[in-house]
Amino acid sequence: MTRFITRFAPSPTGRLHLGHAFSALTAFDAAREAGGVCLLRIEDIDQTRCTPAFEAAIFEDLAWLGLNWPQPVRRQSDHMDDYARALERLACEGLVYRCFKTRKEIAEEIGRAPHHPGEGPEGVVYPGPQAPLSEAEEAERLARGEPYAWRLSLNASRDALGARYDALSFIEEGEGPDGEHGVVTARPDLLGDVILARKDVGTSYHMACVHDDALQGVTHVIRGQDLFFATHVHRLLQALLDLPVPVWRHHRLLTDAAGKRFAKRDRSETLEALRAAGLSPADIRQRAGL
Ligand code: GLU
Repeated sequence: MTRFITRFAPSPTGRLHLGHAFSALTAFDAAREAGGVCLLRIEDIDQTRCTPAFEAAIFEDLAWLGLNWPQPVRRQSDHMDDYARALERLACEGLVYRCFKTRKEIAEEIGRAPHHPGEGPEGVVYPGPQAPLSEAEEAERLARGEPYAWRLSLNASRDALGARYDALSFIEEGEGPDGEHGVVTARPDLLGDVILARKDVGTSYHMACVHDDALQGVTHVIRGQDLFFATHVHRLLQALLDLPVPVWRHHRLLTDAAGKRFAKRDRSETLEALRAAGLSPADIRQRAGL
Protein backbone atom coordinates (compact mmCIF):
# COMPACT_ATOMS: atom_id res chain seq x y z
CA MET A 1 0.00 0.00 0.00
CA THR A 2 1.32 3.43 -0.87
CA ARG A 3 1.74 5.47 2.25
CA PHE A 4 2.84 8.68 0.58
CA ILE A 5 0.36 10.43 -1.67
CA THR A 6 0.85 14.03 -2.63
CA ARG A 7 -0.55 16.18 -5.40
CA PHE A 8 0.09 19.09 -7.71
CA ALA A 9 -3.15 21.04 -8.08
CA PRO A 10 -2.92 23.88 -10.59
CA SER A 11 -5.78 26.06 -11.76
CA PRO A 12 -6.04 26.37 -15.55
CA THR A 13 -6.28 30.15 -15.58
CA GLY A 14 -3.10 30.74 -17.58
CA ARG A 15 0.06 29.06 -18.79
CA LEU A 16 2.28 27.45 -16.17
CA HIS A 17 5.36 29.48 -15.29
CA LEU A 18 8.64 28.77 -13.57
CA GLY A 19 7.00 29.06 -10.14
CA HIS A 20 4.55 26.31 -11.05
CA ALA A 21 7.37 24.16 -12.42
CA PHE A 22 9.20 24.53 -9.11
CA SER A 23 6.07 23.52 -7.18
CA ALA A 24 5.31 20.57 -9.46
CA LEU A 25 8.90 19.29 -9.44
CA THR A 26 9.06 19.65 -5.64
CA ALA A 27 5.93 17.52 -5.21
CA PHE A 28 6.84 14.91 -7.85
CA ASP A 29 10.43 14.62 -6.53
CA ALA A 30 9.17 14.16 -2.96
CA ALA A 31 6.83 11.36 -4.08
CA ARG A 32 9.60 9.64 -5.98
CA GLU A 33 12.01 9.87 -3.04
CA ALA A 34 9.36 8.46 -0.70
CA GLY A 35 8.36 5.68 -3.07
CA GLY A 36 4.90 7.22 -3.27
CA VAL A 37 2.79 8.90 -5.89
CA CYS A 38 2.05 12.44 -6.93
CA LEU A 39 -1.43 13.05 -8.32
CA LEU A 40 -2.38 15.80 -10.69
CA ARG A 41 -5.61 17.62 -9.90
CA ILE A 42 -7.23 20.32 -11.98
CA GLU A 43 -8.70 23.01 -9.72
CA ASP A 44 -11.10 24.67 -12.11
CA ILE A 45 -14.12 25.58 -9.99
CA ASP A 46 -13.96 29.17 -11.21
CA GLN A 47 -15.37 28.59 -14.66
CA THR A 48 -15.15 32.29 -15.53
CA ARG A 49 -11.34 32.11 -15.45
CA CYS A 50 -10.47 28.52 -16.32
CA THR A 51 -10.33 27.28 -19.91
CA PRO A 52 -9.95 23.86 -21.57
CA ALA A 53 -7.02 25.26 -23.56
CA PHE A 54 -5.10 26.13 -20.38
CA GLU A 55 -5.93 22.69 -18.99
CA ALA A 56 -4.53 21.01 -22.11
CA ALA A 57 -1.43 23.20 -21.79
CA ILE A 58 -0.90 22.00 -18.20
CA PHE A 59 -0.80 18.37 -19.37
CA GLU A 60 1.54 19.30 -22.20
CA ASP A 61 3.94 21.37 -20.07
CA LEU A 62 4.14 18.79 -17.27
CA ALA A 63 4.70 15.92 -19.70
CA TRP A 64 7.44 17.96 -21.35
CA LEU A 65 9.06 18.36 -17.92
CA GLY A 66 9.20 14.57 -17.82
CA LEU A 67 6.49 14.09 -15.21
CA ASN A 68 3.78 11.47 -15.28
CA TRP A 69 0.83 10.92 -13.03
CA PRO A 70 -1.90 8.37 -12.41
CA GLN A 71 -5.10 8.48 -14.44
CA PRO A 72 -7.83 9.57 -14.29
CA VAL A 73 -7.00 13.14 -13.39
CA ARG A 74 -9.60 14.65 -11.13
CA ARG A 75 -11.14 17.79 -12.61
CA GLN A 76 -13.00 19.66 -9.89
CA SER A 77 -15.64 21.16 -12.17
CA ASP A 78 -16.88 17.61 -12.85
CA HIS A 79 -17.62 17.07 -9.17
CA MET A 80 -19.55 20.11 -8.03
CA ASP A 81 -22.20 17.84 -6.47
CA ASP A 82 -19.60 16.41 -4.08
CA TYR A 83 -18.73 19.87 -2.81
CA ALA A 84 -22.40 20.82 -2.57
CA ARG A 85 -22.98 17.77 -0.35
CA ALA A 86 -20.10 18.72 1.93
CA LEU A 87 -21.49 22.24 2.22
CA GLU A 88 -24.94 20.83 2.89
CA ARG A 89 -23.55 18.83 5.77
CA LEU A 90 -22.04 21.96 7.31
CA ALA A 91 -25.31 23.81 6.71
CA CYS A 92 -27.35 21.08 8.43
CA GLU A 93 -25.11 21.40 11.45
CA GLY A 94 -25.53 25.18 11.50
CA LEU A 95 -21.84 25.77 10.79
CA VAL A 96 -22.29 28.03 7.78
CA TYR A 97 -24.55 30.99 7.18
CA ARG A 98 -25.66 33.05 4.22
CA CYS A 99 -24.00 36.45 4.11
CA PHE A 100 -25.65 38.99 1.82
CA LYS A 101 -23.26 41.80 2.63
CA THR A 102 -21.33 43.52 -0.09
CA ARG A 103 -17.61 44.10 0.20
CA LYS A 104 -18.34 47.75 1.02
CA GLU A 105 -20.83 46.87 3.76
CA ILE A 106 -18.32 44.50 5.32
CA ALA A 107 -15.61 47.16 5.29
CA GLU A 108 -18.01 49.59 6.98
CA GLU A 109 -19.07 47.03 9.58
CA ILE A 110 -15.47 46.17 10.39
CA GLY A 111 -14.67 49.88 10.66
CA ARG A 112 -17.43 50.29 13.27
CA ALA A 113 -16.52 47.29 15.42
CA PRO A 114 -14.62 48.16 18.61
CA HIS A 115 -12.32 45.12 18.52
CA HIS A 116 -11.94 43.94 14.95
CA PRO A 117 -9.08 41.74 13.79
CA GLY A 118 -8.57 44.05 10.80
CA GLU A 119 -6.18 42.80 8.16
CA GLY A 120 -5.14 39.19 8.46
CA PRO A 121 -2.53 37.38 6.41
CA GLU A 122 -5.19 36.80 3.76
CA GLY A 123 -6.55 40.33 3.64
CA VAL A 124 -9.58 41.74 5.42
CA VAL A 125 -10.74 39.42 8.17
CA TYR A 126 -14.49 39.28 8.60
CA PRO A 127 -15.11 38.22 12.19
CA GLY A 128 -18.76 37.43 11.50
CA PRO A 129 -21.97 39.40 11.96
CA GLN A 130 -22.71 41.11 15.26
CA ALA A 131 -26.20 39.60 15.16
CA PRO A 132 -27.42 36.80 12.89
CA LEU A 133 -29.78 37.67 10.07
CA SER A 134 -33.39 37.04 11.03
CA GLU A 135 -35.15 34.21 9.23
CA ALA A 136 -37.69 36.66 7.85
CA GLU A 137 -35.04 38.95 6.38
CA GLU A 138 -33.11 36.03 4.95
CA ALA A 139 -36.28 34.70 3.27
CA GLU A 140 -37.05 38.14 1.90
CA ARG A 141 -33.56 38.59 0.44
CA LEU A 142 -33.64 35.11 -1.06
CA ALA A 143 -37.02 35.84 -2.63
CA ARG A 144 -35.58 39.02 -4.14
CA GLY A 145 -32.83 36.89 -5.69
CA GLU A 146 -30.02 38.79 -3.99
CA PRO A 147 -26.53 37.33 -4.28
CA TYR A 148 -24.93 35.89 -1.16
CA ALA A 149 -21.93 33.94 0.09
CA TRP A 150 -21.92 30.95 2.42
CA ARG A 151 -19.49 31.74 5.22
CA LEU A 152 -18.04 29.36 7.76
CA SER A 153 -19.04 30.51 11.24
CA LEU A 154 -16.09 30.37 13.62
CA ASN A 155 -18.43 30.91 16.58
CA ALA A 156 -20.54 27.92 15.58
CA SER A 157 -17.39 25.89 14.89
CA ARG A 158 -16.09 26.66 18.36
CA ASP A 159 -19.42 25.62 19.89
CA ALA A 160 -19.47 22.40 17.86
CA LEU A 161 -15.92 21.33 18.66
CA GLY A 162 -15.69 22.56 22.24
CA ALA A 163 -12.21 22.16 23.72
CA ARG A 164 -11.01 20.53 20.48
CA TYR A 165 -11.31 23.88 18.72
CA ASP A 166 -8.45 25.51 20.61
CA ALA A 167 -6.37 22.33 20.53
CA LEU A 168 -6.42 22.03 16.72
CA SER A 169 -2.95 21.85 15.26
CA PHE A 170 -1.17 20.63 12.17
CA ILE A 171 2.24 19.30 11.28
CA GLU A 172 4.37 21.48 9.07
CA GLU A 173 7.26 19.54 7.60
CA GLY A 174 8.31 22.39 5.37
CA GLU A 175 8.26 26.00 6.40
CA GLY A 176 5.65 28.72 6.73
CA PRO A 177 6.40 32.31 5.69
CA ASP A 178 7.54 33.16 9.23
CA GLY A 179 9.61 30.04 9.67
CA GLU A 180 6.73 28.00 11.11
CA HIS A 181 7.81 24.37 11.37
CA GLY A 182 6.79 21.31 13.36
CA VAL A 183 3.53 21.34 15.29
CA VAL A 184 1.64 24.54 14.48
CA THR A 185 -1.47 25.62 16.37
CA ALA A 186 -4.36 26.15 13.96
CA ARG A 187 -5.57 29.74 14.10
CA PRO A 188 -8.63 29.97 11.86
CA ASP A 189 -9.37 33.34 13.47
CA LEU A 190 -6.45 34.71 11.41
CA LEU A 191 -8.76 34.36 8.41
CA GLY A 192 -12.14 34.98 10.06
CA ASP A 193 -15.45 33.69 8.70
CA VAL A 194 -14.20 32.65 5.26
CA ILE A 195 -16.40 32.16 2.21
CA LEU A 196 -17.01 28.48 1.42
CA ALA A 197 -19.39 28.95 -1.49
CA ARG A 198 -21.38 31.58 -3.32
CA LYS A 199 -24.87 31.63 -4.69
CA ASP A 200 -23.49 31.35 -8.23
CA VAL A 201 -20.34 29.27 -7.57
CA GLY A 202 -21.40 26.44 -5.25
CA THR A 203 -17.98 25.94 -3.70
CA SER A 204 -14.63 27.56 -2.99
CA TYR A 205 -10.97 26.71 -3.07
CA HIS A 206 -11.02 25.86 0.67
CA MET A 207 -13.99 23.51 0.42
CA ALA A 208 -12.99 21.70 -2.77
CA CYS A 209 -9.33 21.36 -1.77
CA VAL A 210 -10.08 19.86 1.65
CA HIS A 211 -12.73 17.56 0.22
CA ASP A 212 -10.49 16.26 -2.55
CA ASP A 213 -7.36 15.85 -0.46
CA ALA A 214 -9.37 13.52 1.79
CA LEU A 215 -11.14 11.71 -1.04
CA GLN A 216 -7.87 11.13 -2.87
CA GLY A 217 -6.09 9.88 0.24
CA VAL A 218 -3.50 12.66 0.18
CA THR A 219 -1.05 12.12 3.03
CA HIS A 220 1.27 15.04 2.24
CA VAL A 221 0.06 18.40 1.01
CA ILE A 222 2.99 19.99 -0.80
CA ARG A 223 2.41 23.54 -2.01
CA GLY A 224 3.73 27.08 -1.90
CA GLN A 225 3.97 29.24 1.20
CA ASP A 226 1.34 31.54 -0.29
CA LEU A 227 -1.19 28.94 0.87
CA PHE A 228 0.23 28.46 4.35
CA PHE A 229 -2.48 30.50 6.06
CA ALA A 230 -5.22 28.63 4.22
CA THR A 231 -4.03 25.60 6.19
CA HIS A 232 -5.48 27.09 9.39
CA VAL A 233 -8.97 26.95 7.95
CA HIS A 234 -8.36 23.66 6.12
CA ARG A 235 -7.46 22.04 9.43
CA LEU A 236 -10.71 23.32 10.95
CA LEU A 237 -12.75 22.01 8.01
CA GLN A 238 -11.14 18.59 8.42
CA ALA A 239 -12.21 18.55 12.07
CA LEU A 240 -15.75 19.67 11.26
CA LEU A 241 -16.16 17.12 8.45
CA ASP A 242 -14.36 14.26 10.25
CA LEU A 243 -11.75 14.01 7.52
CA PRO A 244 -8.29 12.45 7.82
CA VAL A 245 -5.51 14.95 8.47
CA PRO A 246 -2.46 15.01 6.20
CA VAL A 247 0.86 16.67 6.96
CA TRP A 248 1.88 19.82 5.12
CA ARG A 249 5.10 20.81 3.41
CA HIS A 250 4.94 24.42 2.33
CA HIS A 251 7.82 25.44 0.14
CA ARG A 252 9.45 28.78 -0.53
CA LEU A 253 8.20 30.78 -3.47
CA LEU A 254 10.41 31.36 -6.46
CA THR A 255 11.10 34.96 -7.30
CA ASP A 256 12.47 36.57 -10.43
CA ALA A 257 15.74 38.50 -10.65
CA ALA A 258 13.98 41.56 -9.19
CA GLY A 259 12.79 39.54 -6.19
CA LYS A 260 9.18 39.54 -7.42
CA ARG A 261 7.04 36.40 -7.32
CA PHE A 262 6.27 34.81 -10.64
CA ALA A 263 2.75 35.56 -11.72
CA LYS A 264 0.60 34.44 -14.59
CA ARG A 265 0.92 37.86 -16.17
CA ASP A 266 4.69 37.42 -16.66
CA ARG A 267 4.52 35.94 -20.14
CA SER A 268 8.27 35.66 -20.53
CA GLU A 269 8.65 33.03 -17.85
CA THR A 270 5.94 30.63 -19.00
CA LEU A 271 7.21 27.14 -19.67
CA GLU A 272 5.92 27.58 -23.20
CA ALA A 273 8.11 30.63 -23.74
CA LEU A 274 11.15 29.08 -22.05
CA ARG A 275 10.78 25.95 -24.18
CA ALA A 276 10.45 28.07 -27.34
CA ALA A 277 13.61 29.89 -26.31
CA GLY A 278 15.43 26.55 -26.41
CA LEU A 279 15.56 25.62 -22.72
CA SER A 280 15.47 21.94 -21.82
CA PRO A 281 13.65 20.39 -18.85
CA ALA A 282 17.07 20.12 -17.15
CA ASP A 283 17.57 23.87 -17.65
CA ILE A 284 14.18 24.48 -16.01
CA ARG A 285 15.23 22.43 -13.01
CA GLN A 286 18.39 24.41 -12.76
CA ARG A 287 16.61 27.76 -13.07
CA ALA A 288 14.19 26.65 -10.37
CA GLY A 289 17.19 25.93 -8.16
CA LEU A 290 16.53 22.19 -7.93
N1 GLU B 1 -5.06 25.46 -7.06
C1 GLU B 1 -4.16 26.14 -6.20
C2 GLU B 1 -3.29 27.09 -6.99
O1 GLU B 1 -3.33 27.11 -8.19
C3 GLU B 1 -3.26 25.21 -5.42
C4 GLU B 1 -4.00 24.50 -4.36
C5 GLU B 1 -3.18 23.69 -3.36
O2 GLU B 1 -2.09 23.21 -3.67
O3 GLU B 1 -3.71 23.51 -2.27
O4 GLU B 1 -2.57 27.87 -6.42
